[in-house]
Order: sequence, then C-alpha cells, then structure tokens
Amino acid sequence: MGRGAPNCLTCVHFHVTWDPKFPRGCRLFEIKTPRLPSQVVLETTGRHCPGFELSPRVKPKERHA
Ligand code: SF4
Repeated sequence: MGRGAPNCLTCVHFHVTWDPKFPRGCRLFEIKTPRLPSQVVLETTGRHCPGFELSPRVKPKERHA
C-alpha cells in the first residue's frame, strides 16, 4: 500500500448504498458517505484505514489504481 488513503473502489468491503446523498459505503466500518470511506476513516481516526482488502473482482491491470 502507498502513502495515500486506500482506494475503497478496489476494496472487498466497499459497496454502493443506492442512497443518493451517501452513495459510497464500507461494510467493515458501517459507513455511508458521499466521499471515499477511507477518507472518513482518516479524518476520524487520524490514521489510514487498516481494513483494506483487495477485491477479487479487481482485474490485474486495475490493481494499482
Ligand atoms: S475497509 Fe477501508 S479501504 Fe475498504 S472500503 Fe472500508 S474504508 Fe475503504
């Protein structure tokens, strides 16, 4: 992992909530937000999210996005 916040879009815990105001969700931390959940984790805890797990749905060429 690099120095930036993890890319939730490639994480197994990420999901789309279908709530127009809070469309991005994290099942691990039970967060719904209009931004990336990992940004909320960083702002709330002062640390990068420790829960990132690469989704098996991510194709190899997308793994470093
Ligand atoms: S576990 Fe971390 S990286 Fe994964 S979706 Fe949640 S906040 Fe994002």
